[in-house]
Amino acid sequence: MKMSQLLAPTLREDPKEAEVVSHKLLLRAGYIRKLAAGIYTYLPLGFKVLQKVSQVIREEMNRSGAQEVLMPALLPSELWQETGRWNVYGKELFRIQDRHERDFCLGPTHEEAITELVRRSINSYKQLPINLYQIQTKFRDEIRPRFGLMRGREFIMKDAYSFHTSKKDLDKEYKNMYETYCRIFERLGLKYRVVQADSGAIGGGYSQEFMVLADSGEEEIFYCEKCDYAASRESAGVGGEKIVEGIGKGGDEKGKDKVKEVNTPGQKTIEEVTAFLKESPEKMIKTLVYETENGPVIALVRGDHALNEAKLKKMLGVEDLKLAADKVIEGVTKAPVGFAGPVGLKGVKIVADTAIPLIEQGITGANKEDYHLTNVVYGRDYQAELLGDLRFALSSDACPKCGQAKYSVQRGIEVGHIFKLGTKYSEKMKCVYLDEGNKEKTMIMGCYGIGVGRTAQAAIEQNHDEDGIIWPMPLAPYQVAIIPVNVGIKEQLEAAEKIYQDGLQIGLDVLLDDRDFRVGVKLKDIDLIGIPIKIIVGKALKDGQVEIKLRKTGEINLVEIGKVGEWLRQNVCS
Ligand code: ATP
Ligand code: MG
Repeated sequence: MKMSQLLAPTLREDPKEAEVVSHKLLLRAGYIRKLAAGIYTYLPLGFKVLQKVSQVIREEMNRSGAQEVLMPALLPSELWQETGRWNVYGKELFRIQDRHERDFCLGPTHEEAITELVRRSINSYKQLPINLYQIQTKFRDEIRPRFGLMRGREFIMKDAYSFHTSKKDLDKEYKNMYETYCRIFERLGLKYRVVQADSGAIGGGYSQEFMVLADSGEEEIFYCEKCDYAASRESAGVGGEKIVEGIGKGGDEKGKDKVKEVNTPGQKTIEEVTAFLKESPEKMIKTLVYETENGPVIALVRGDHALNEAKLKKMLGVEDLKLAADKVIEGVTKAPVGFAGPVGLKGVKIVADTAIPLIEQGITGANKEDYHLTNVVYGRDYQAELLGDLRFALSSDACPKCGQAKYSVQRGIEVGHIFKLGTKYSEKMKCVYLDEGNKEKTMIMGCYGIGVGRTAQAAIEQNHDEDGIIWPMPLAPYQVAIIPVNVGIKEQLEAAEKIYQDGLQIGLDVLLDDRDFRVGVKLKDIDLIGIPIKIIVGKALKDGQVEIKLRKTGEINLVEIGKVGEWLRQNVCS
């Protein structure tokens, strides 16, 4: 490609709309342009990078035995009704109607669509297992689209779905995908960590996330220095707290004071009550009322802890969970909002975090306007039906696997996610096959995603300096840029053209900066764009040499003009 023809509008200034460096650089170096919030055009350079990422993914997925397909982005609501996700998915789903007022959505993920395909085209165990994947545009009406391609509303994802006759067979493919993902991210030159994850709206059983390490990452990775445990903030377990025995038998009352009702006029929040009573939030029994498909539930966590809704969902085995409306809270507690507590509450399920029974004498709402209770003792004054880990872990919490006293925390960007779905979709959609004995069985599923644009951008977070992007070779839109210092000098331009042709011949992506600009300007642009190798055709040409400069290290090699092809073969093709 000749730079004079390339549509790569570079910007001198940092665009105001961009918060993270990778987003700034994608805009400044002319890779992407915003059309609307979370919706981007990929310019020639941007599209080329996406193709490079896709190609590595495609090669490794094919190597793993998966087959590529392409499903529609426009999906009929009936399929989503079958799995119940038409209602559960919420506002992130882009919903539309056709001219006959039939409901459709723009696919945010394709479990329903693929299950429909497989249930219609596979009926025997002989056709299983199978793993189908696609690289396709997804649509999610993200509440906060931001950071460019990191969290878009329209973005490209590689999604794969596997179908099996047994859990063991799924385990095997899951491991195969795990290894495939490791190969993909290694080939792309990324530093990453695999963490145990929450499976979110896609649901099902076990899942792991591939996190590219970066300080600007949205995710927090909790990992143990002593063992190999690593988890996302959403799923990091809390170790070291024993579940208190004797639920329903009454706690240890010895030496404990009696419950006291105290007047707390207008004091509703944890902060207000603890300030008013001059107590610490660790003594507060935070009482949260949730609505679920099985009715209201009360969840208790310590005043200084944050309840983790994913863990609560899992404990309750519900799909639908939201903080209750004021009316529901008032119905359950018979008091205005702000004074809820577990003592004396009847006819509602109460669940609690493992830290709750350890509060020796707690403070909580009295279910009465302007009153709280102090000296509240677990087992004596109230009880939970279920006890378990319900809160977000803190770095001060212990590792749940080996008991190491505290966590280490690192930030990361989630670029890939692998799930063992089990029969969550196949059961609801009756995706069945006939086994050896001609008996109908439900297929067992796995699913595996990679954000293509997010991966490309995450690579920039890890590879840049004050001058611009420093692409790892496999991601670079062009591996080599050839820069004649002065295009007005015929010999220089001719020599550059010759190297350009040689590079193309070898099969490299080469850029010839044939613009009639000062060399300083050209070098600045090429560095901003992040081309790994610059071949500068200038003064040394009179000695039959060119300068080859590496973007990453700044290292300069003087190479004889006749040997440039060989140098490129050795240093770029391998
Ligand atoms: P997140 O927690 O970041 O919202 P997710 O759990 O919703 O991600 P998945 O449904 O597992 O994501 O999607 C698979 C992959 O697609 C993710 O690992 C990520 O790389 C990518 N991805 C998800 N949402 C977006 C988005 N809005 N923009 C760009 N890439 C995305
Ligand atoms: Mg999401």
